[in-house]
Amino acid sequence: AEEVGGGDKEVVKEYFNNDGFQRWRRIYGETDDVNKVQLDIRIGHSKTVENVMKMLTDEGSLKGVTVCDAGCGTGSLSIPLAKEGAVVSASDISAAMVAEAEKKAREELLEGKDELSPGLVLPKFEVNDLESLSGKYDTVVCLDVLIHYPQSKADAMIAHLASLAENRLILSFAPKTFYYSLLKRIGELFPGPSKATRAYLHAEADVERALQKVGWRIRKRGLITTQFYFANLVEAVRA
Ligand code: SAM
Repeated sequence: AEEVGGGDKEVVKEYFNNDGFQRWRRIYGETDDVNKVQLDIRIGHSKTVENVMKMLTDEGSLKGVTVCDAGCGTGSLSIPLAKEGAVVSASDISAAMVAEAEKKAREELLEGKDELSPGLVLPKFEVNDLESLSGKYDTVVCLDVLIHYPQSKADAMIAHLASLAENRLILSFAPKTFYYSLLKRIGELFPGPSKATRAYLHAEADVERALQKVGWRIRKRGLITTQFYFANLVEAVRA
């Protein structure tokens, strides 16, 4: 079934507060209790984070720049952003993820001291689904979250994120290419115990159209792939 009465979001929230939290905390962490596939995904995802940091810092210093990290997970992007002096508002639908991100941010940014280095601010963390986010940010980033949105809901999600951004919107998503569609189908034929949520792939053209509809254009694009991790990365600006 495509969408079960709009209940997808509840399923996703439940998953990322429980099994999904345990699974992704390990994948996004540094410990070696991951299998080969998970390690491969960890490497792919960290390349995405590196690419985003490069995209952002190439345009100039991040000191004092407001960034909204929507669907922040365990803070993989929020923390390096804060280390560059960005003023980060990080949120996630999962309270477990937000708690983990906050703990890691304190550890990594304070490094056991009482005070942050001058010019740095701890990210502001909040449990919130991204449709409920408000405010204005110089930059809005949403990494690897679109996978939980069918294309029918992705347009509204992208439009909402764009409405929060003054200058830049960065999105990553699993590309709908033949090879990856096939992999996903194989995954569905042999579902593992950890595959608790549906995965939705998106064609870059569909994401581009959704951005254009609200007056944005893609300025930079990239593709990050490892054996088991695939992400299209786009940076959009006002057209
Ligand atoms: N963006 C993080 C990163 O790249 O490290 C985490 C990516 S993880 C695959 C997906 C995250 O999206 C999970 O933490 C999940 O709880 C969150 N999420 C899913 N649907 C969401 C929604 N509607 N609003 C906010 N967060 C959501």
